[in-house]
Amino acid sequence: MKKQRTTQQRKVIEEICFSSTCPLSIDDIESRGKEILATLNRVTVYRNLNRMVDAGELTRFSHPEKGTLYEQANRPHHHHFFCKTCEATFELPGCGLSLKKQTPAGFIVEGHEVFLNGVCAACAS
Ligand SMILES: [Zn+2]
Ligand SMILES: [Zn+2]
Repeated sequence: MKKQRTTQQRKVIEEICFSSTCPLSIDDIESRGKEILATLNRVTVYRNLNRMVDAGELTRFSHPEKGTLYEQANRPHHHHFFCKTCEATFELPGCGLSLKKQTPAGFIVEGHEVFLNGVCAACAS
């Protein structure tokens, strides 16, 4: 019985993460999950997200205002846009940075996160 419930919770969490087109916070995932499965609790959400990060299914990164966000690991490199009005985070495809020019000689760049802040199209209109 307990086992079955665990599997069910895990399924709900996976479904939310894999169907989302934008990064989600634990709060986002927990509140969406509770709409589907009222018994879902934060500890389970947290545990499953960690498991999915370890399994290479999700990546985790920190936003200065929203805190830790999760998104699918298999997405091509992109940047993020944070809307200060609706507090949604959007994916911006592609990368306009020329890293070589911005890095002092001898430094080895292994990755970067870029956050743009402002107001999204829906909120601006
Ligand atoms: Zn917005
Ligand atoms: Zn980039």
